[in-house]
Amino acid sequence: MTRPWTEAVPADTRQLSIGELSARMEAGSLSAVELMQELVARTKAVEGRVRAFNSFDEADALAQARASDERRAGARRLGRGAVRPLEGIPVGIKDVISVAGQPLTASSRMLENFVSPYDATVTERLKDAGAVCWGRLNLDEFAMGSSTENSAFGATSNPWDLERVPGGSSGGSAAAVAAGEAVAALGSDTGGSIRQPAALCSVVGLKPTYGRVSRYGLIAFASSLDQIGPFARSVRDAAVLLGAIAGHDPRDSTSVRLEVPDYARGVDELAKSGRKWRLGIPKEYFGEGLDPEVGAAVEEAIGEYRRMGCEVREVSLPHTKYAIATYYIIATAECSSNLARFDGVRYGHRSREATDALDIYFKSRAEGFGQEVKRRIILGTYVLSSGYYDAYYLRAQKVRTLIRGDFLQAYREVDAIVTPTSPTPAFRKGEKAADPLAMYLNDIYTIGVNLAGLPGMSVPCGFTKAGLPVGLQIIGQPFKETELLAIGAAYEERTQWHGRVPPL
Ligand code: GLN
Repeated sequence: MTRPWTEAVPADTRQLSIGELSARMEAGSLSAVELMQELVARTKAVEGRVRAFNSFDEADALAQARASDERRAGARRLGRGAVRPLEGIPVGIKDVISVAGQPLTASSRMLENFVSPYDATVTERLKDAGAVCWGRLNLDEFAMGSSTENSAFGATSNPWDLERVPGGSSGGSAAAVAAGEAVAALGSDTGGSIRQPAALCSVVGLKPTYGRVSRYGLIAFASSLDQIGPFARSVRDAAVLLGAIAGHDPRDSTSVRLEVPDYARGVDELAKSGRKWRLGIPKEYFGEGLDPEVGAAVEEAIGEYRRMGCEVREVSLPHTKYAIATYYIIATAECSSNLARFDGVRYGHRSREATDALDIYFKSRAEGFGQEVKRRIILGTYVLSSGYYDAYYLRAQKVRTLIRGDFLQAYREVDAIVTPTSPTPAFRKGEKAADPLAMYLNDIYTIGVNLAGLPGMSVPCGFTKAGLPVGLQIIGQPFKETELLAIGAAYEERTQWHGRVPPL
Protein backbone atom coordinates (compact mmCIF):
# COMPACT_ATOMS: atom_id res chain seq x y z
CA MET A 1 0.00 0.00 0.00
CA THR A 2 2.89 2.30 -0.77
CA ARG A 3 3.05 4.94 -3.46
CA PRO A 4 6.75 5.67 -3.77
CA TRP A 5 6.93 6.87 -7.37
CA THR A 6 10.53 6.85 -8.45
CA GLU A 7 12.11 6.44 -11.83
CA ALA A 8 13.44 2.93 -12.38
CA VAL A 9 14.65 0.73 -15.19
CA PRO A 10 11.86 -0.10 -17.62
CA ALA A 11 10.88 -3.73 -17.84
CA ASP A 12 11.70 -5.76 -20.92
CA THR A 13 8.81 -8.22 -20.66
CA ARG A 14 6.11 -5.74 -21.62
CA GLN A 15 5.18 -7.25 -24.93
CA LEU A 16 5.23 -10.89 -23.88
CA SER A 17 2.01 -12.87 -23.69
CA ILE A 18 1.04 -15.06 -20.76
CA GLY A 19 2.10 -18.09 -22.79
CA GLU A 20 5.53 -16.62 -23.52
CA LEU A 21 6.10 -15.54 -19.93
CA SER A 22 5.02 -18.94 -18.72
CA ALA A 23 7.41 -20.66 -21.14
CA ARG A 24 10.29 -18.54 -19.82
CA MET A 25 9.43 -19.39 -16.25
CA GLU A 26 9.18 -23.05 -17.14
CA ALA A 27 12.56 -22.91 -18.91
CA GLY A 28 14.06 -21.28 -15.83
CA SER A 29 15.13 -18.07 -17.62
CA LEU A 30 12.63 -15.97 -15.63
CA SER A 31 11.24 -16.45 -12.14
CA ALA A 32 7.88 -15.25 -10.87
CA VAL A 33 9.75 -13.06 -8.39
CA GLU A 34 11.83 -11.48 -11.18
CA LEU A 35 8.72 -10.85 -13.24
CA MET A 36 6.97 -9.28 -10.25
CA GLN A 37 10.04 -7.17 -9.48
CA GLU A 38 10.02 -5.89 -13.04
CA LEU A 39 6.38 -4.93 -12.78
CA VAL A 40 6.96 -3.17 -9.47
CA ALA A 41 9.86 -1.21 -10.98
CA ARG A 42 7.83 -0.38 -14.06
CA THR A 43 4.88 0.67 -11.94
CA LYS A 44 7.03 2.94 -9.80
CA ALA A 45 8.51 4.46 -12.95
CA VAL A 46 5.25 5.32 -14.70
CA GLU A 47 2.60 5.47 -12.01
CA GLY A 48 3.25 9.12 -11.18
CA ARG A 49 1.97 9.87 -14.69
CA VAL A 50 -0.61 7.11 -15.25
CA ARG A 51 -2.13 6.67 -11.76
CA ALA A 52 -3.83 3.38 -12.59
CA PHE A 53 -3.61 2.06 -9.02
CA ASN A 54 -5.48 3.15 -5.92
CA SER A 55 -2.89 1.21 -3.94
CA PHE A 56 -0.58 -1.73 -4.19
CA ASP A 57 1.12 -3.99 -1.71
CA GLU A 58 4.59 -4.73 -3.03
CA ALA A 59 5.60 -7.05 -0.19
CA ASP A 60 2.43 -9.10 -0.51
CA ALA A 61 2.81 -9.42 -4.30
CA LEU A 62 6.43 -10.51 -3.97
CA ALA A 63 5.45 -13.05 -1.32
CA GLN A 64 2.81 -14.48 -3.68
CA ALA A 65 5.43 -14.63 -6.44
CA ARG A 66 7.88 -16.40 -4.14
CA ALA A 67 5.22 -18.96 -3.24
CA SER A 68 4.61 -19.51 -6.95
CA ASP A 69 8.30 -20.12 -7.62
CA GLU A 70 8.32 -22.64 -4.76
CA ARG A 71 5.28 -24.46 -6.17
CA ARG A 72 6.97 -24.65 -9.56
CA ALA A 73 10.20 -25.94 -8.05
CA GLY A 74 8.22 -28.46 -5.99
CA ALA A 75 6.33 -29.72 -9.05
CA ARG A 76 9.61 -30.08 -10.91
CA ARG A 77 11.15 -32.14 -8.10
CA LEU A 78 8.16 -34.44 -8.24
CA GLY A 79 8.61 -34.73 -11.98
CA ARG A 80 5.19 -33.24 -12.70
CA GLY A 81 4.91 -31.70 -16.14
CA ALA A 82 2.37 -29.33 -17.65
CA VAL A 83 2.44 -26.32 -15.37
CA ARG A 84 -0.81 -24.38 -15.06
CA PRO A 85 -0.94 -21.47 -17.51
CA LEU A 86 -1.40 -18.72 -14.91
CA GLU A 87 1.27 -19.93 -12.48
CA GLY A 88 3.29 -16.86 -11.44
CA ILE A 89 1.43 -14.40 -13.69
CA PRO A 90 0.61 -11.04 -12.00
CA VAL A 91 -2.98 -9.97 -12.57
CA GLY A 92 -4.21 -6.53 -11.51
CA ILE A 93 -7.60 -6.35 -9.82
CA LYS A 94 -10.18 -3.58 -10.15
CA ASP A 95 -10.80 -2.00 -6.77
CA VAL A 96 -14.39 -3.21 -6.69
CA ILE A 97 -13.48 -6.91 -6.49
CA SER A 98 -12.59 -8.31 -3.06
CA VAL A 99 -9.09 -9.54 -2.26
CA ALA A 100 -8.85 -10.79 1.33
CA GLY A 101 -6.81 -8.50 3.55
CA GLN A 102 -6.48 -5.79 0.90
CA PRO A 103 -8.30 -2.43 0.66
CA LEU A 104 -11.60 -2.43 -1.23
CA THR A 105 -12.64 1.15 -1.94
CA ALA A 106 -14.72 1.21 -5.14
CA SER A 107 -12.84 4.53 -5.54
CA SER A 108 -15.31 6.02 -3.07
CA ARG A 109 -14.85 8.01 0.14
CA MET A 110 -17.57 5.72 1.47
CA LEU A 111 -15.10 2.80 1.56
CA GLU A 112 -11.85 4.72 1.87
CA ASN A 113 -10.69 2.71 4.90
CA PHE A 114 -12.44 -0.58 4.20
CA VAL A 115 -10.37 -3.77 4.08
CA SER A 116 -11.93 -6.80 2.45
CA PRO A 117 -12.43 -9.68 4.91
CA TYR A 118 -12.67 -12.33 2.19
CA ASP A 119 -11.79 -13.19 -1.41
CA ALA A 120 -14.21 -12.80 -4.30
CA THR A 121 -14.77 -16.06 -6.15
CA VAL A 122 -12.75 -14.76 -9.11
CA THR A 123 -9.89 -13.81 -6.78
CA GLU A 124 -9.99 -17.21 -5.14
CA ARG A 125 -9.92 -18.88 -8.56
CA LEU A 126 -7.00 -16.77 -9.78
CA LYS A 127 -5.05 -17.65 -6.63
CA ASP A 128 -5.96 -21.33 -7.04
CA ALA A 129 -4.63 -21.12 -10.61
CA GLY A 130 -1.30 -19.81 -9.27
CA ALA A 131 -1.69 -16.18 -10.36
CA VAL A 132 -0.36 -13.26 -8.31
CA CYS A 133 -3.09 -10.76 -7.36
CA TRP A 134 -1.45 -7.42 -7.95
CA GLY A 135 -2.73 -4.06 -6.73
CA ARG A 136 -6.06 -2.31 -6.49
CA LEU A 137 -6.94 -0.62 -9.77
CA ASN A 138 -8.73 2.70 -10.06
CA LEU A 139 -12.26 3.11 -11.42
CA ASP A 140 -15.15 5.53 -11.58
CA GLU A 141 -16.75 5.53 -8.14
CA PHE A 142 -18.82 2.35 -7.77
CA ALA A 143 -18.15 1.68 -11.48
CA MET A 144 -20.41 4.56 -12.56
CA GLY A 145 -18.84 6.41 -15.45
CA SER A 146 -16.93 6.14 -18.71
CA SER A 147 -13.73 8.04 -17.97
CA THR A 148 -12.39 7.11 -14.50
CA GLU A 149 -12.70 10.81 -13.67
CA ASN A 150 -15.38 10.01 -11.10
CA SER A 151 -12.84 8.37 -8.77
CA ALA A 152 -12.73 9.99 -5.34
CA PHE A 153 -8.96 9.48 -5.35
CA GLY A 154 -8.11 11.20 -8.63
CA ALA A 155 -8.38 10.39 -12.32
CA THR A 156 -6.32 7.83 -14.23
CA SER A 157 -4.55 9.01 -17.39
CA ASN A 158 -4.55 7.32 -20.77
CA PRO A 159 -1.03 5.90 -21.31
CA TRP A 160 -1.24 6.85 -25.00
CA ASP A 161 -1.92 10.51 -24.20
CA LEU A 162 -1.69 11.57 -20.59
CA GLU A 163 -4.04 14.53 -21.17
CA ARG A 164 -6.82 12.14 -22.05
CA VAL A 165 -9.05 9.72 -20.18
CA PRO A 166 -8.44 5.94 -20.30
CA GLY A 167 -12.19 5.30 -20.52
CA GLY A 168 -14.18 3.77 -17.70
CA SER A 169 -15.28 2.60 -15.43
CA SER A 170 -12.38 0.07 -15.38
CA GLY A 171 -9.91 2.75 -16.55
CA GLY A 172 -7.25 1.68 -14.05
CA SER A 173 -7.35 -1.92 -15.30
CA ALA A 174 -7.03 -0.90 -18.96
CA ALA A 175 -4.31 1.68 -18.29
CA ALA A 176 -2.27 -0.69 -16.11
CA VAL A 177 -2.19 -3.35 -18.83
CA ALA A 178 -1.47 -0.79 -21.57
CA ALA A 179 1.32 0.84 -19.53
CA GLY A 180 2.97 -2.49 -18.75
CA GLU A 181 2.20 -2.29 -15.02
CA ALA A 182 0.32 -5.60 -15.08
CA VAL A 183 0.38 -8.56 -17.46
CA ALA A 184 -3.41 -8.73 -17.33
CA ALA A 185 -6.22 -7.43 -15.15
CA LEU A 186 -9.77 -8.04 -14.06
CA GLY A 187 -12.55 -5.50 -14.46
CA SER A 188 -16.31 -5.40 -14.29
CA ASP A 189 -18.71 -4.47 -17.07
CA THR A 190 -22.25 -3.26 -16.44
CA GLY A 191 -22.69 -1.15 -19.56
CA GLY A 192 -19.31 -1.29 -21.26
CA SER A 193 -16.81 -0.78 -18.45
CA ILE A 194 -14.42 -3.45 -19.70
CA ARG A 195 -14.78 -3.01 -23.46
CA GLN A 196 -14.77 0.79 -23.73
CA PRO A 197 -11.57 1.37 -21.69
CA ALA A 198 -9.94 -1.58 -23.48
CA ALA A 199 -10.70 0.18 -26.78
CA LEU A 200 -9.43 3.55 -25.58
CA CYS A 201 -6.16 2.02 -24.26
CA SER A 202 -5.51 -0.52 -27.05
CA VAL A 203 -5.79 -3.71 -25.03
CA VAL A 204 -8.14 -6.69 -25.26
CA GLY A 205 -11.19 -6.57 -22.98
CA LEU A 206 -13.79 -9.31 -22.65
CA LYS A 207 -17.20 -9.19 -21.03
CA PRO A 208 -18.43 -12.77 -20.71
CA THR A 209 -22.06 -13.86 -21.04
CA TYR A 210 -24.22 -12.91 -18.06
CA GLY A 211 -24.00 -15.91 -15.73
CA ARG A 212 -20.64 -17.19 -16.99
CA VAL A 213 -18.56 -15.73 -14.15
CA SER A 214 -19.54 -15.49 -10.47
CA ARG A 215 -19.96 -12.01 -9.04
CA TYR A 216 -19.60 -13.15 -5.44
CA GLY A 217 -17.28 -10.60 -3.84
CA LEU A 218 -17.89 -7.94 -6.51
CA ILE A 219 -19.44 -4.74 -5.13
CA ALA A 220 -22.80 -4.77 -6.89
CA PHE A 221 -23.80 -1.86 -9.13
CA ALA A 222 -26.69 -3.17 -11.27
CA SER A 223 -27.09 -6.86 -10.55
CA SER A 224 -28.99 -7.82 -13.70
CA LEU A 225 -26.17 -6.38 -15.83
CA ASP A 226 -22.88 -6.73 -13.89
CA GLN A 227 -20.31 -9.21 -15.14
CA ILE A 228 -16.61 -9.66 -14.37
CA GLY A 229 -14.09 -10.20 -17.15
CA PRO A 230 -10.43 -9.96 -18.17
CA PHE A 231 -8.19 -7.31 -19.72
CA ALA A 232 -5.18 -8.73 -21.56
CA ARG A 233 -2.43 -8.09 -24.07
CA SER A 234 -3.90 -10.58 -26.53
CA VAL A 235 -7.08 -12.54 -27.22
CA ARG A 236 -5.38 -15.81 -26.24
CA ASP A 237 -4.36 -14.33 -22.90
CA ALA A 238 -7.98 -13.31 -22.35
CA ALA A 239 -9.01 -16.91 -23.15
CA VAL A 240 -6.66 -18.26 -20.48
CA LEU A 241 -7.99 -15.82 -17.88
CA LEU A 242 -11.61 -16.53 -18.71
CA GLY A 243 -10.95 -20.24 -18.29
CA ALA A 244 -9.62 -19.59 -14.80
CA ILE A 245 -12.46 -17.39 -13.53
CA ALA A 246 -15.53 -18.90 -15.25
CA GLY A 247 -17.85 -21.50 -13.83
CA HIS A 248 -20.75 -22.16 -11.53
CA ASP A 249 -20.62 -20.83 -8.00
CA PRO A 250 -23.31 -21.63 -5.45
CA ARG A 251 -22.64 -18.21 -3.88
CA ASP A 252 -23.95 -16.39 -6.96
CA SER A 253 -27.38 -17.72 -7.91
CA THR A 254 -27.14 -16.18 -11.39
CA SER A 255 -24.03 -18.18 -12.27
CA VAL A 256 -24.97 -21.04 -14.57
CA ARG A 257 -24.30 -24.73 -14.22
CA LEU A 258 -22.47 -25.10 -17.51
CA GLU A 259 -19.18 -26.81 -17.99
CA VAL A 260 -16.25 -24.46 -18.58
CA PRO A 261 -14.61 -25.30 -21.91
CA ASP A 262 -10.85 -25.12 -22.40
CA TYR A 263 -11.10 -21.76 -24.18
CA ALA A 264 -7.45 -21.53 -25.18
CA ARG A 265 -7.51 -24.97 -26.77
CA GLY A 266 -10.90 -24.28 -28.37
CA VAL A 267 -9.53 -21.13 -30.00
CA ASP A 268 -6.56 -23.06 -31.43
CA GLU A 269 -8.82 -25.81 -32.74
CA LEU A 270 -11.15 -23.34 -34.44
CA ALA A 271 -8.15 -21.53 -35.94
CA LYS A 272 -6.91 -24.82 -37.39
CA SER A 273 -10.34 -25.76 -38.71
CA GLY A 274 -10.26 -22.70 -40.98
CA ARG A 275 -13.91 -22.06 -40.27
CA LYS A 276 -15.36 -19.13 -42.20
CA TRP A 277 -17.39 -16.95 -39.90
CA ARG A 278 -20.61 -15.21 -40.78
CA LEU A 279 -20.45 -11.68 -39.40
CA GLY A 280 -23.28 -9.18 -39.02
CA ILE A 281 -22.78 -5.43 -39.27
CA PRO A 282 -25.64 -3.55 -37.57
CA LYS A 283 -26.53 -0.57 -39.71
CA GLU A 284 -27.75 1.37 -36.64
CA TYR A 285 -24.19 1.41 -35.25
CA PHE A 286 -22.63 3.37 -38.09
CA GLY A 287 -24.72 6.52 -38.09
CA GLU A 288 -24.63 9.90 -36.44
CA GLY A 289 -22.14 10.39 -33.60
CA LEU A 290 -19.52 7.98 -34.94
CA ASP A 291 -16.12 9.63 -35.27
CA PRO A 292 -15.01 9.30 -38.93
CA GLU A 293 -11.55 7.98 -38.04
CA VAL A 294 -13.05 5.35 -35.73
CA GLY A 295 -15.51 4.41 -38.47
CA ALA A 296 -12.69 4.09 -41.01
CA ALA A 297 -10.59 1.85 -38.74
CA VAL A 298 -13.57 -0.40 -38.07
CA GLU A 299 -14.43 -0.58 -41.80
CA GLU A 300 -10.83 -1.56 -42.47
CA ALA A 301 -11.08 -4.33 -39.85
CA ILE A 302 -14.28 -5.59 -41.45
CA GLY A 303 -12.39 -5.59 -44.76
CA GLU A 304 -9.77 -7.81 -43.13
CA TYR A 305 -12.48 -10.31 -42.21
CA ARG A 306 -13.73 -10.24 -45.80
CA ARG A 307 -10.22 -10.95 -47.04
CA MET A 308 -10.13 -13.95 -44.67
CA GLY A 309 -13.13 -15.28 -46.52
CA CYS A 310 -15.72 -14.46 -43.87
CA GLU A 311 -19.23 -13.69 -44.99
CA VAL A 312 -20.14 -10.16 -43.96
CA ARG A 313 -23.74 -8.99 -44.11
CA GLU A 314 -25.79 -6.12 -42.81
CA VAL A 315 -28.12 -6.83 -39.90
CA SER A 316 -30.58 -4.59 -38.10
CA LEU A 317 -30.90 -3.93 -34.38
CA PRO A 318 -33.82 -1.50 -34.58
CA HIS A 319 -34.33 -1.03 -30.84
CA THR A 320 -30.77 0.29 -30.39
CA LYS A 321 -32.23 3.79 -30.27
CA TYR A 322 -33.82 2.99 -26.90
CA ALA A 323 -30.76 1.33 -25.39
CA ILE A 324 -29.31 4.33 -23.52
CA ALA A 325 -32.67 5.32 -22.03
CA THR A 326 -33.45 1.73 -21.07
CA TYR A 327 -30.04 1.20 -19.49
CA TYR A 328 -30.14 4.39 -17.44
CA ILE A 329 -33.52 3.43 -16.00
CA ILE A 330 -32.62 -0.16 -15.15
CA ALA A 331 -29.05 0.51 -13.99
CA THR A 332 -30.04 3.44 -11.78
CA ALA A 333 -33.02 1.55 -10.32
CA GLU A 334 -30.81 -1.38 -9.38
CA CYS A 335 -28.01 0.81 -8.06
CA SER A 336 -30.39 2.75 -5.81
CA SER A 337 -31.31 -0.56 -4.24
CA ASN A 338 -27.79 -2.03 -4.11
CA LEU A 339 -26.22 1.08 -2.63
CA ALA A 340 -28.79 1.28 0.19
CA ARG A 341 -26.45 -0.94 2.19
CA PHE A 342 -23.96 1.92 2.55
CA ASP A 343 -25.80 3.53 5.43
CA GLY A 344 -23.00 4.56 7.76
CA VAL A 345 -24.07 1.91 10.25
CA ARG A 346 -22.81 -1.47 9.15
CA TYR A 347 -19.62 -0.54 7.35
CA GLY A 348 -17.99 2.25 5.41
CA HIS A 349 -17.90 5.94 6.12
CA ARG A 350 -19.79 7.24 9.16
CA SER A 351 -20.26 10.97 9.57
CA ARG A 352 -18.72 12.55 12.65
CA GLU A 353 -21.30 15.33 12.50
CA ALA A 354 -24.38 13.17 12.99
CA THR A 355 -26.55 13.88 16.01
CA ASP A 356 -29.13 11.07 15.88
CA ALA A 357 -29.78 7.77 14.11
CA LEU A 358 -31.49 9.25 11.06
CA ASP A 359 -28.80 11.87 10.80
CA ILE A 360 -26.17 9.09 10.57
CA TYR A 361 -27.80 7.85 7.36
CA PHE A 362 -28.24 11.28 5.82
CA LYS A 363 -24.85 12.75 6.63
CA SER A 364 -22.82 9.58 6.05
CA ARG A 365 -24.30 9.17 2.58
CA ALA A 366 -24.06 12.89 1.81
CA GLU A 367 -20.36 12.89 2.72
CA GLY A 368 -19.44 9.43 1.43
CA PHE A 369 -20.90 9.44 -2.09
CA GLY A 370 -19.71 11.56 -5.01
CA GLN A 371 -21.91 13.56 -7.35
CA GLU A 372 -22.49 10.96 -10.07
CA VAL A 373 -23.35 8.25 -7.55
CA LYS A 374 -25.87 10.56 -5.89
CA ARG A 375 -27.37 11.50 -9.24
CA ARG A 376 -27.94 7.83 -10.03
CA ILE A 377 -29.37 6.94 -6.62
CA ILE A 378 -31.83 9.82 -6.93
CA LEU A 379 -32.78 8.87 -10.51
CA GLY A 380 -33.14 5.21 -9.57
CA THR A 381 -35.27 5.97 -6.53
CA TYR A 382 -37.50 8.12 -8.73
CA VAL A 383 -38.08 5.49 -11.44
CA LEU A 384 -38.94 2.91 -8.77
CA SER A 385 -41.29 5.13 -6.78
CA SER A 386 -44.98 4.37 -6.73
CA GLY A 387 -46.81 5.92 -9.63
CA TYR A 388 -43.66 5.95 -11.78
CA TYR A 389 -42.69 2.29 -11.55
CA ASP A 390 -44.98 1.22 -14.40
CA ALA A 391 -44.17 4.22 -16.56
CA TYR A 392 -40.40 3.84 -16.30
CA TYR A 393 -39.04 0.68 -14.75
CA LEU A 394 -41.58 -1.81 -16.04
CA ARG A 395 -41.50 -0.25 -19.50
CA ALA A 396 -37.72 -0.33 -19.57
CA GLN A 397 -37.86 -4.05 -18.78
CA LYS A 398 -40.17 -4.59 -21.75
CA VAL A 399 -37.90 -2.63 -24.08
CA ARG A 400 -34.99 -4.66 -22.75
CA THR A 401 -36.74 -7.80 -24.02
CA LEU A 402 -37.10 -6.18 -27.44
CA ILE A 403 -33.41 -5.28 -27.51
CA ARG A 404 -32.44 -8.87 -26.69
CA GLY A 405 -34.88 -10.03 -29.35
CA ASP A 406 -33.10 -7.93 -31.98
CA PHE A 407 -29.82 -9.68 -31.25
CA LEU A 408 -31.33 -13.16 -31.19
CA GLN A 409 -33.04 -12.43 -34.50
CA ALA A 410 -29.71 -11.37 -36.03
CA TYR A 411 -28.05 -14.54 -34.71
CA ARG A 412 -30.31 -16.62 -36.91
CA GLU A 413 -28.12 -15.59 -39.82
CA VAL A 414 -24.75 -14.66 -38.34
CA ASP A 415 -22.26 -16.11 -35.84
CA ALA A 416 -21.24 -12.77 -34.38
CA ILE A 417 -21.86 -9.05 -34.72
CA VAL A 418 -19.05 -6.60 -35.36
CA THR A 419 -19.21 -2.90 -34.41
CA PRO A 420 -17.07 -0.05 -33.12
CA THR A 421 -16.58 -0.38 -29.34
CA SER A 422 -16.80 3.34 -28.65
CA PRO A 423 -18.07 6.10 -30.96
CA THR A 424 -14.97 8.22 -30.31
CA PRO A 425 -11.34 7.73 -29.36
CA ALA A 426 -10.16 8.83 -25.89
CA PHE A 427 -11.47 12.29 -25.07
CA ARG A 428 -9.72 14.98 -23.05
CA LYS A 429 -9.99 15.02 -19.29
CA GLY A 430 -12.71 17.43 -18.29
CA GLU A 431 -14.25 17.46 -21.76
CA LYS A 432 -17.41 15.56 -20.83
CA ALA A 433 -17.23 15.66 -17.05
CA ALA A 434 -19.76 18.47 -16.76
CA ASP A 435 -22.24 16.93 -19.21
CA PRO A 436 -23.62 13.59 -17.99
CA LEU A 437 -25.61 13.00 -21.17
CA ALA A 438 -22.54 13.41 -23.39
CA MET A 439 -20.76 10.94 -21.11
CA TYR A 440 -23.67 8.46 -21.25
CA LEU A 441 -23.65 8.57 -25.06
CA ASN A 442 -20.19 7.03 -24.99
CA ASP A 443 -21.84 3.73 -24.07
CA ILE A 444 -24.11 3.64 -27.07
CA TYR A 445 -22.47 0.58 -28.69
CA THR A 446 -21.75 -1.39 -25.53
CA ILE A 447 -24.82 -1.23 -23.30
CA GLY A 448 -27.13 -3.20 -25.59
CA VAL A 449 -24.82 -6.17 -25.05
CA ASN A 450 -25.34 -5.99 -21.27
CA LEU A 451 -29.09 -5.48 -21.61
CA ALA A 452 -29.18 -8.63 -23.77
CA GLY A 453 -26.80 -10.55 -21.48
CA LEU A 454 -24.41 -11.38 -24.36
CA PRO A 455 -20.64 -11.83 -24.41
CA GLY A 456 -18.70 -8.99 -26.03
CA MET A 457 -15.05 -8.26 -26.60
CA SER A 458 -13.00 -5.28 -27.72
CA VAL A 459 -9.80 -5.88 -29.69
CA PRO A 460 -7.32 -3.21 -30.83
CA CYS A 461 -7.98 -2.30 -34.49
CA GLY A 462 -5.89 0.76 -35.24
CA PHE A 463 -5.03 4.31 -34.31
CA THR A 464 -6.24 7.76 -35.31
CA LYS A 465 -3.88 10.23 -36.96
CA ALA A 466 -3.27 11.72 -33.51
CA GLY A 467 -2.12 8.30 -32.29
CA LEU A 468 -5.20 7.41 -30.26
CA PRO A 469 -6.28 3.75 -30.15
CA VAL A 470 -9.46 2.42 -31.77
CA GLY A 471 -11.24 -0.75 -30.66
CA LEU A 472 -13.33 -3.26 -32.59
CA GLN A 473 -16.24 -4.76 -30.69
CA ILE A 474 -17.21 -8.34 -31.45
CA ILE A 475 -20.49 -9.50 -29.93
CA GLY A 476 -21.03 -13.23 -29.57
CA GLN A 477 -23.90 -15.59 -28.93
CA PRO A 478 -24.82 -16.55 -25.36
CA PHE A 479 -22.15 -18.84 -23.81
CA LYS A 480 -20.26 -19.10 -27.08
CA GLU A 481 -17.15 -17.38 -25.79
CA THR A 482 -14.89 -19.88 -27.58
CA GLU A 483 -16.27 -18.78 -30.95
CA LEU A 484 -16.14 -15.12 -29.94
CA LEU A 485 -12.49 -15.46 -28.90
CA ALA A 486 -11.66 -17.39 -32.07
CA ILE A 487 -13.13 -14.63 -34.23
CA GLY A 488 -11.05 -12.07 -32.34
CA ALA A 489 -7.92 -14.21 -32.53
CA ALA A 490 -8.30 -14.63 -36.30
CA TYR A 491 -8.19 -10.85 -36.71
CA GLU A 492 -5.37 -10.46 -34.22
CA GLU A 493 -3.22 -12.99 -36.05
CA ARG A 494 -3.39 -10.95 -39.24
CA THR A 495 -2.75 -7.54 -37.67
CA GLN A 496 -0.11 -5.97 -35.46
CA TRP A 497 -2.14 -3.48 -33.43
CA HIS A 498 -2.14 -5.45 -30.21
CA GLY A 499 1.67 -5.59 -30.12
CA ARG A 500 2.07 -1.83 -29.86
CA VAL A 501 2.89 -0.23 -26.54
CA PRO A 502 2.56 3.44 -25.62
CA PRO A 503 5.70 5.63 -25.57
CA LEU A 504 5.80 6.18 -21.82
N1 GLN B 1 -20.34 3.84 -18.45
C1 GLN B 1 -21.48 3.09 -18.01
C2 GLN B 1 -22.08 3.74 -16.78
O1 GLN B 1 -21.65 4.77 -16.44
C3 GLN B 1 -21.12 1.68 -17.77
C4 GLN B 1 -20.42 1.49 -16.48
C5 GLN B 1 -20.09 0.05 -16.24
O2 GLN B 1 -20.13 -0.78 -17.13
N2 GLN B 1 -19.81 -0.25 -14.99
O3 GLN B 1 -22.96 3.22 -16.18
